[in-house]
Amino acid sequence: MSAPNIETIVNLSKRRGFVYPASDIYGGLGSAWDYGPLGVELANNIKQNWWKWMVHERDDIEGIDSSIIQNRLVWKYCGHEETFNDMMTDCRECKSRHRADKLEFEGSMSVDDAIAKGIVACPNCGKKDLTEPRPFLTMLSTRIGAVADEDDYYSLAYLRPETAQGIFINFANILTTSKRKLPFGIAQIGKSFRNEITPGNFILRTREFEQMEMEYFCRAEDAPRFVDEWVENYLEWLGSLGISRANIDLYEVPKEELAHYSVRTVDVMYRYFPDRDEESRQWDELMGIANRTDFDTKAHSKKAEDEEGNRINPDSTDDLSYFDPYTNERFYPYVVEPAIGVNRTLLAVLMDAYTEREGERGDKRVVLELKPELAPINVAILPLKKNKDEIVSLAMKIKRDLSRSLRAVYDDTGSIGKLYARQDEIGTPACITVDFESLDDQTVTVRDRDTWEQKRVAADRLAEFLGDRTSFAAD
Ligand SMILES: [Zn+2]
Repeated sequence: MSAPNIETIVNLSKRRGFVYPASDIYGGLGSAWDYGPLGVELANNIKQNWWKWMVHERDDIEGIDSSIIQNRLVWKYCGHEETFNDMMTDCRECKSRHRADKLEFEGSMSVDDAIAKGIVACPNCGKKDLTEPRPFLTMLSTRIGAVADEDDYYSLAYLRPETAQGIFINFANILTTSKRKLPFGIAQIGKSFRNEITPGNFILRTREFEQMEMEYFCRAEDAPRFVDEWVENYLEWLGSLGISRANIDLYEVPKEELAHYSVRTVDVMYRYFPDRDEESRQWDELMGIANRTDFDTKAHSKKAEDEEGNRINPDSTDDLSYFDPYTNERFYPYVVEPAIGVNRTLLAVLMDAYTEREGERGDKRVVLELKPELAPINVAILPLKKNKDEIVSLAMKIKRDLSRSLRAVYDDTGSIGKLYARQDEIGTPACITVDFESLDDQTVTVRDRDTWEQKRVAADRLAEFLGDRTSFAAD
């Protein structure tokens, strides 16, 4: 099973320390969230898993970590400064602000016409009195330097709305230092920022978020098949995180909704709202795979020309063209981009792992059936008697030993039944109990999260027994 709705995960997250509302003691900050002790471990595990899969296990991908703040010209020439807008409208009655393209109304006319005709109701108060939609720049801006001069073009800076541009502007650097030949990719994990008009739905739509992006540079004629290939690759990877295929759907983005740089985008949708009546409204975007063409490599190149033969970029000092030694051609590479959010992935992983079971006494038990490699805690060591020194010190020693290869914790804050239940609820695959018998024969009990089965294992063989798979079911 999976979680019945997002609220279940919001509550679990706050109760157990995955995710807290940010700035909560000051009344919060619209749609910002802080990751607690378990959330930071889960997010790190997802990122490490992605990096290993994307960069280390492949032979055609390099990694990078570029600056969040770049020269403003980066955002001018990639088109974001001009086109990174959402159309927004204000309600004259209650003063709330909304994204025009997200408003619902009867009929098939454009939303602009519908607002003009007064048939679109404010989602907040219901009054049909909205202003004409106008563009709103969704990049967050700041000023750099001690003397921030309003007139100085370069003192205005943007927090990046995507990590991709930091990859494009380093294409020539990486080509030189790595001696790569097409096709090859550059991967990056990092924070991005968008001043969303209507954020919401927990960590699904936030102004600050973390991306895992990869830009795959290739010849124009190869780009279409690489889009399909990366869709397949990602379906497999998402499956390996424990996200069931039934909760995943593919959405071919219609031409009129494509971003300014894309000729084809496939969105991978996740069923974040299983409790909504209409099946069509249960889905939201988990990630996208786009054919960005040569738009970005040309946009940052000093020699690139538009269709009329004018230079596209008089400010760039470099050229992102590629010389193919096999065909003796020089051209601007096409780019295929799979982009996925850490936060959206984490939410999907939590929703899919959420299970309710009947406990030994007929009570309802929550078990997070996380993949062992994603679990915030791999193993919990629980002493059966916390006031018996020898038991405590053996348990502590086991914890220290296992910590070398696993995320292990020691916990003696409750009865053994309570401790098991707490570990089940946060997805810990194995619990180890140390008891009187352990002192005699140096064995401990290992309990499996998924089967609740228990096995007696020699203390000095624990690391080997647990390995990186911590489920008995895998035996
Ligand atoms: Zn209103």
